[in-house]
Amino acid sequence: METIKSDVGQAEATLTLLRDLIHNQRLALAQHYNTNDLEMQLATWEGMLHQLQQHTALERSARLGLLYEASQALAHSLDWEETVESVMDLVIRVTGAERGLVMLVENGAWKVQVSRNSKESPFSERDLEFSHSVIQKMVVQGKAILTSNARRDPRFNGSQSIIIQGLRSILCAPLMVQGELLGALYLENRMKSGLFSPDDLATLAAFANQAAVALANARVHQQTHRALLRSVRELRLLQEMARDLNSSLDHQHVMERSVRWITTAVEAESGALGLLAEEGLRWVAQLGETAPDDTSAWQTLRQRQAGFTPQQLCLPLLREERPLGVFWLTAGEHPFTEEDLEFAIRLADSAAIAIENARLYEALVLANQSKNEFVSLVSHELRTPMTSIRGYTDMLRKGIVGPLSPQQQTFIDTISRNVERMRIMVSDLLDLSRMESGKLRLKPVPTTLKEAVEEAARIIQEPLQGKEQSLTVELPETLPQVNADPDRLAQILINLLGNAVKYTSAQGSIVVRAEEYAKEPGMVHCAVSDSGIGMSLEDQQRLFTKFFRSENPAVREQTGTGLGLAIVRNLVEMHGGSMWVESTLGAGSVFHFTVPVAP
Ligand code: ADP
Repeated sequence: METIKSDVGQAEATLTLLRDLIHNQRLALAQHYNTNDLEMQLATWEGMLHQLQQHTALERSARLGLLYEASQALAHSLDWEETVESVMDLVIRVTGAERGLVMLVENGAWKVQVSRNSKESPFSERDLEFSHSVIQKMVVQGKAILTSNARRDPRFNGSQSIIIQGLRSILCAPLMVQGELLGALYLENRMKSGLFSPDDLATLAAFANQAAVALANARVHQQTHRALLRSVRELRLLQEMARDLNSSLDHQHVMERSVRWITTAVEAESGALGLLAEEGLRWVAQLGETAPDDTSAWQTLRQRQAGFTPQQLCLPLLREERPLGVFWLTAGEHPFTEEDLEFAIRLADSAAIAIENARLYEALVLANQSKNEFVSLVSHELRTPMTSIRGYTDMLRKGIVGPLSPQQQTFIDTISRNVERMRIMVSDLLDLSRMESGKLRLKPVPTTLKEAVEEAARIIQEPLQGKEQSLTVELPETLPQVNADPDRLAQILINLLGNAVKYTSAQGSIVVRAEEYAKEPGMVHCAVSDSGIGMSLEDQQRLFTKFFRSENPAVREQTGTGLGLAIVRNLVEMHGGSMWVESTLGAGSVFHFTVPVAP
């Protein structure tokens, strides 16, 4: 390539020289008529001229062919930077130009994308100014500009740069794709004129067109690639933020994390979150030093639309179109872009869900807390008067204050039964509220299951006998002790046996069995079965929920609150065991539970 460049340059210079010489010689001949020497000299020069012309034409066509091949190769490049660099290098090498620029138009401004200089001196401000003025001429003219001798070209010979730098050959071709001007290819050469001949113009323009297509392709590819990368990054960030925010239900924590995520995502200097409260806008979380701007926050809240300046972003925090608050961000080193705004809006929308969930959860916890406190207070308050009612009815029943008539006896029995129901109900409510608030504590000790069964059997004895039911207890002698709170273990069995009696008709049978649980070593398995009314599958699924009572009329004719089994399952689980049921409607039920073996 280098040889082509220097050969062509030299040949061009020699050609010019020869043409001048022949011209002068002809003048001499015309004046001095024929002298043989001169004739011969002239013939030799003309021969040389002919040869050189042929040679030059060959070299030029070779290098233009090369240019064409190069432009084809360019069409396959998709890397933007690489394409621009290649365009420049190829043109410089093939044309033999000393210096060249690829300038591109970005948002109406011309920017040097790449410059090459075969000489040491880089492009100075003045050079760039001159190349700009040539480009302007090219833009006005709407087509490539070429001069093979700028000094003699009236379009340029007035320019200081031409004179100072001795510019000769200049080529400026537009880089156009589908009527859109992407940029320009600018080449220049000092000292040597005729580097670019008007004959080359068509080929050079065609090359510029090819280069422009390659650049446009690479630009689209680069833009798509960038957009893809950005989307992937945004998606990842959104996911990470959602995962982080949803991992907590602590309202304050979620709000602080949201501010941190959004502020860092758009590289803001400071960020804050303001929530609408009764007293107005309350800034609840902040990152960075700058104080948030109330005025723009209110404006955003009123318009329910993001406020955007390169220095500030204000994003409404909306939940189902309802404004809850506002994210405020101030720019750091780099001003905010439309892309930042769009991304921040997506982040804020996602954060809004997590913030609202945490807020609702907090409200729910508070409501539940106050409900538990209320239930606990009422239960305590009810206990005292109930104790005295029970005391006095007992005294009356026992005839301590004198004998009772049969009718009085019946009344007193009814009062006692109902007070006992109330006592159970109040104590169940108290247990549940304690469990929910985490205040119910177990005191597990090595306990004998047999004792708990006996205690329960004693308590249900009266109704059991009343219904002439049979109770069988099958506990192996070798059954190990369990690790349980004795009172609570008895409570579990009293509840299960009580239900078995309640929901089994007269003369039915009830069995309590226990064994070391083979399926789960380290556990004792206990089962309470009855030959009672049983349950539908649907009822079994809702069995352990608070206040559940079957619609079965056989159930409804019995008294009950639907709290017992919910408490029992909670107690079993608090001991580290599990609970389940097997039942067939009309045939009976088996309630199973496990408790850990004592260490
Ligand atoms: P209660 O007995 O006060 O209604 P529980 O929580 O103890 O409340 O029981 C909830 C419901 O489960 C009962 O109302 C009944 O429908 C069903 N149930 C409980 N034990 C049995 C049983 N042994 N046989 C049939 N149904 C039962």
